[in-house]
Formats: sequence, C-alpha cells, structure tokens
Amino acid sequence: MHPGGFLEVITGPMFAGKTTELIKRVERQAFAKRKVAIFKPSIDDRYSRSDVVAHNGLKYRAFVVPTSEEGVELIREVTLKEGYEVIGVDEAQFFPMSIVEALNGLADEGVYVIVSGLNLDFKGDPFPVMKELLVRADNIVYLTAVCTVCGRPATRSQRLINGKPAPRDSPVVLVGGSESYEARCRLHHEVP
Ligand code: ADP
Ligand code: MG
Repeated sequence: MHPGGFLEVITGPMFAGKTTELIKRVERQAFAKRKVAIFKPSIDDRYSRSDVVAHNGLKYRAFVVPTSEEGVELIREVTLKEGYEVIGVDEAQFFPMSIVEALNGLADEGVYVIVSGLNLDFKGDPFPVMKELLVRADNIVYLTAVCTVCGRPATRSQRLINGKPAPRDSPVVLVGGSESYEARCRLHHEVP
C-alpha cells in the first residue's frame, strides 16, 4: 500500500479524537491484511495496561513501552523483528526526542507509521517532539475538540486544579482525564 513507507501524524488538543482516529486507521490496515501493532507509553496508565483506550471507550490491543530511550529502541526493534507493516504510536509527546528519528527512519524503511500526540501543553506551548514529527510528516491530520465553554472548535488543552485554571508554573506532565483537563478554544484557554 505504501511501498516507500509513510509517516502520518495525528494531532490536536485533548478530547479531539486522536486515539479514536489512530485506532480507526490501524484497524483499517488490519482489515487490509497488513501486519499491525500499536505502541503506547507506560506513563499513561489511566485505564488499562495492555489496551490503548479512547475517551469514548473504543480500545485496541497495544504494546506498552517505557517513555525512555529504551522504550524508543523497543518500538524500533519489535517493529523490524516482527515485521510489522503498519504501526500506531499513541501519546508521542511523552517520548524523548529520539522517537522522531526512530519513526522517521521506520517510514524510510517501508513502514506505514501512524503517530498521534498532543499539539500544545497546558500553557499553550508546542510539545517539541510533535513539532519535529509534524514537519517530517507525509500527511497531517489536525483534529479539534469542542470548547467546553462556548462549543466552538477547541485547539487547546485547559488544565484545571480544583476546577480553576492551572498556573503557568505547574509541571508540564500530569496524566489525567476530564477531572483535570478540558478542551478549550483560543479565547477560553486560560493560563494565569
Ligand atoms: P484524544 O485521544 O484526542 O484525547 P479520544 O479519541 O480518546 O481523544 O476521545 C474522543 C472522544 O472524547 C469523543 O468521541 C467524545 O466522546 C469525547 N469527548 C469528551 N469531551 C469532549 C470535548 N470537549 N470535545 C470533543 N469530544 C469530547
Ligand atoms: Mg488520546
């Protein structure tokens, strides 16, 4: 299907449907009889250890790998050793920068790589890994969620602490669901 390999990047804020889209695309390739696998970082233990699970309950079997250089190397090794033709990688923003060359390299080696990750952190700053993946992509799927304040398309992830906007000096990585994050548009994204 993609004899030269392909790098496809799915991005957007939380709740935009990135994981849903990743599963959908990988599942299509499985129907097309391609050998597929999904990888997800082990930092994400929100729902389950062995499935990648979307906020709407959709799930798919996944390899759980650590968010370290070893985790990145594992994705490369497993893909090449097992001969996966299509791989999905969810929550790419949690991996070290070496994920960029690893996934770009796999695409060069003929693998159809579908990678999803957050566009911006809670402060509205880009995740460096995603920036680097986006400019190398053969195709970009930019998704929006629904702003919880006004219902317009949301491009930002609002972090909340006890229902209030999180200040700029709180840590970048904090895994959570609807209790600590909301999708917001540019106008309603607040960083005090
Ligand atoms: P992502 O991986 O981008 O966080 P998921 O694919 O896991 O998104 O989940 C998408 C689902 O989240 C939607 O189908 C919808 O059911 C749900 N959802 C919850 N809050 C929102 C919101 N504010 N905007 C859009 N979808 C939302
Ligand atoms: Mg997701």
